Amino acid sequence: MDQRENIPSWDEYFIGLAKYVAIRSKDPVTQVGAVIVASDHRILSLGYNGAPKGMSDEEMPWGKTSDNPLETKYPYVAHAEANAIANYKGSGRDLEGGSIYVTLFPCNQCAIQIVGRGIKNIYYEKIKNEDRWDVQASKRILDNAGVKYYQISQSNDIVIPVGKPAYQSENQEAKTRKLVPENNNKK
Ligand SMILES: [Zn+2]
Repeated sequence: MDQRENIPSWDEYFIGLAKYVAIRSKDPVTQVGAVIVASDHRILSLGYNGAPKGMSDEEMPWGKTSDNPLETKYPYVAHAEANAIANYKGSGRDLEGGSIYVTLFPCNQCAIQIVGRGIKNIYYEKIKNEDRWDVQASKRILDNAGVKYYQISQSNDIVIPVGKPAYQSENQEAKTRKLVPENNNKK
């Protein structure tokens, strides 16, 4: 029997995973996902954009514009790349020479963290505001640090072959938090 055909390449696989990671983001406009991968294809960490640690998503202002800058998301939001780096609890040596897959080209602040941790490759799906100063600064930081970046454009949406979970109850609380173990009666 021959092996399955048309399996995704590593790059397609990890950028597809980054897109899946992004779906947990509470940001109503921009959902970003990041996957950090060691040079031997081990997944090291995941992250998506959200409120900073300790600040609830309800507390967080999610708007892009307001007369008061403190009532926009910009001073607060933790980016996917920064969260993926913060979520990584293993040896920093693994990050060195690794890659990060992101659904959006990193901003300058994330570029600083990426070069600081020794990550050497960035695979991104989209880039926004390419002429804006922060994106220009990001490229300058990455160029100087010798970090390579590659755009992965996809002709089709990735179809993730997972079904919708069938929970024991349609109750939202049960869906998200209160699954009852099947072996609840046993010790
Ligand atoms: Zn960023």
